[in-house]
Amino acid sequence: MSSTTTSSTTLSSLAVATLGTPRIGPRRELKLALESFWSGATNEQALIDTGIGLRAANWARQNKLGVTVIPSNDFSFYDQVLDTSVMVGAIPAIYGWTGGTVPLSTYFAMARGAEGHAHDQACNHVHHGHGVPAQEMTKWFDTNYHYMVPELTRDQRFTLASRKPIEEYEEAKALGYQTRPVLVGPVTFLKLAKSKDAGFDPLSLLDRLLPVYIEVLRELAARGAEWVQIDEPCLVLDLDEAARNALRRTYADIARAVPDIKIMLATYFGGLGANRDTAFALPVAGLHLDLVRAPEQIRDLASLPRDRVISLGVIDGRNIWRADLSRALDTLEPVIAKLGKDRVQIAPSCSLLHVPIDLALETQLDADVKSWLAFSVQKIEELAALGTALAGDRGAVAALLQASNAAAASRKISPKIHNAGVTQRLAGIDDAMRRRASPFEERAEVQRARFNLPAFPTTTIGSFPQTPEIRKARAAHAKGALSDAGYKIFLQNQTKRAVRWQETIGLDVLVHGEFERNDMVQYFGEQLSGFAFTENAWVQSYGSRYVRPPILFGDVSRPRPMTVEWWQYAQSLTSKPMKAMLTGPVTILNWSFVRDDIPRSQACRQIALSIRDEVGDLEAAGAGMIQIDEAALREGLPLRRAEWKTYLDWAVDCFRICSSGVRDETQIHTHMCYSEFNDIIDAIGAMDADVISIETSRSKMELLDAFQTYRYPNEIGPGVYDIHSPRVPEVAEMTELMKLARLRLSDAQLWINPDCGLKTRKWEEVRPALANMVAAARELRELA
Ligand code: GLN
Ligand code: ZN
Repeated sequence: MSSTTTSSTTLSSLAVATLGTPRIGPRRELKLALESFWSGATNEQALIDTGIGLRAANWARQNKLGVTVIPSNDFSFYDQVLDTSVMVGAIPAIYGWTGGTVPLSTYFAMARGAEGHAHDQACNHVHHGHGVPAQEMTKWFDTNYHYMVPELTRDQRFTLASRKPIEEYEEAKALGYQTRPVLVGPVTFLKLAKSKDAGFDPLSLLDRLLPVYIEVLRELAARGAEWVQIDEPCLVLDLDEAARNALRRTYADIARAVPDIKIMLATYFGGLGANRDTAFALPVAGLHLDLVRAPEQIRDLASLPRDRVISLGVIDGRNIWRADLSRALDTLEPVIAKLGKDRVQIAPSCSLLHVPIDLALETQLDADVKSWLAFSVQKIEELAALGTALAGDRGAVAALLQASNAAAASRKISPKIHNAGVTQRLAGIDDAMRRRASPFEERAEVQRARFNLPAFPTTTIGSFPQTPEIRKARAAHAKGALSDAGYKIFLQNQTKRAVRWQETIGLDVLVHGEFERNDMVQYFGEQLSGFAFTENAWVQSYGSRYVRPPILFGDVSRPRPMTVEWWQYAQSLTSKPMKAMLTGPVTILNWSFVRDDIPRSQACRQIALSIRDEVGDLEAAGAGMIQIDEAALREGLPLRRAEWKTYLDWAVDCFRICSSGVRDETQIHTHMCYSEFNDIIDAIGAMDADVISIETSRSKMELLDAFQTYRYPNEIGPGVYDIHSPRVPEVAEMTELMKLARLRLSDAQLWINPDCGLKTRKWEEVRPALANMVAAARELRELA
């Protein structure tokens, strides 16, 4: 993207920024270095050197591609929010820090617990292990990235305990790059923090926190930094007046205390909405807006004070689609003509952290699909091209514009994306397809007669331990070292063993164990049309855990049944009911990169129709119980309350579409790894599953309050076994939990099951735990 030397003197060029880039390395270098350090194979210096190398490569790459506003401090060994906690010395007492620069061992103890392996991912989302003092982890806004939740106390003191932003600024400077350091903003930091102290709002600590930020900014200024990017994504949330005041105070204080540094205040993941006037009035030098999620904000730009630099977030930092550059130019040219080139920067909507690094590393992707995609490197090229074209030189990027036009044109009409049959089916969805034939009470009666289960029936959520042996066989099969037939026999034997064992311990409703599944979303994506998978397109989920989300690029259809054979095989081994297992449409959607050319709701309905077909085939094959997991339904909730209803309406609609086509006697189960139901309980009820299993053991059944107040009418299995912990629960613990459940729900409603699937556990833990669970059910039956 070299702009011609002659034009650069006549055209004042446009600033191009990235806000942040992926730090994991194109070949997952960071993960390898971390794991090798944690295992003791390499020392601290080796890890530090890897960090230095990754940062240098990142800066060089951006510089070469034409980025003029290069970030620093966007790197992290684990998480940028954890970095911020450490920077301000917010280190809970249990980590034994006594002052001075925080050592890496303390940092990683906060991240993972002192014994390591603190994080468990039975649910593809994250929990932390028992008795291990890792900080809590939760989703970063509505992304699938997880941050370490800052933990603050009422008497919290802050102090500069890590000079990372300053050191990384200097590191870049020594390499010849004038960077714009990035900090997580103080208000967002406090909004994301939690406290064990009752009735205390972390925001009240603002006055104590600000001096540390001011110290960092002064040091950066003293070393030559001109701009600092401060991220306040909390500005796209529903904020109360207290939070808005906190923002006003923060930026007024900073402006007063460090007048010689310019702040680029970055907002992303949505529009400013009702916070707009607050944000526009803050005394900062620049404001970044997410114009991908909230393109309507482009109309507001005129009301921004004339001295503000505006960073236009026009390239999608959250998704992997190639931009339509000509269309972007048509939108942006009049804006820039009005605002003036000096006031404008071109940027991605948010940090590029959330997209994979380089499309060039994909060698197996379908060529058409590949031509529609852009990862971080390609997005930076797009930004630079926009910068050059908007500076007045479309000619210099003609080839790129042409390629972008061609990709946009082929995407619009490609038969790989557009399937008339799917469109037609979607149009044909009617109300009858979203409604079971009879109300729950009538279905329940027929189902009771059919299955004749004891009171408090016992079951599990689906998966059994994914042992090293299974992973080895899967890898061998993928490499071609194990034949299809050999692999199938291997999986059949695993399944057979699991079924026999379930019979032996006396479970009432069995599962096949999901040994054939690599992942609950990928397994289905690989069998549906419309999905693509990558070799190297990793994105950080948290710390050293990276994922390769499926790419949903086209209309979804199901060429053939996906699970029927495995269900049939498992059922053939037993006379007990064998529950069939499916992943629900909302979960498949929420854990994928989703096409941006149709609404998410429409893509989801397409998946729902495919799952509906699968449900129908399972029923026809004789399956009496079919579980459709919606593990990720809650995490898809929009950031702003006002948008919840629309989302929940279509999410529930999709579940009903996939589950309503069955006869009364077929029992539909669903499972949610979630716990907080209070604010979505109406939607859960509206799904009208015959049986729902949820996570409750760690909260001691308190979560059932929502189901009680709402009078949840259908059946429910509150988890009695915390599968995130290796601990084997005693019989008495589980009966006690069920007694709590009985206070809230009727005996006829209750099932007994673990919190979630058991794939991350070991058989040594699972065997005694489930035997105890069956014993607990027997005790309860005596009581009933
Ligand atoms: N059936 C899946 C399993 O048991 C459900 C996992 C989940 O909800 N995350 O693994
Ligand atoms: Zn779960």
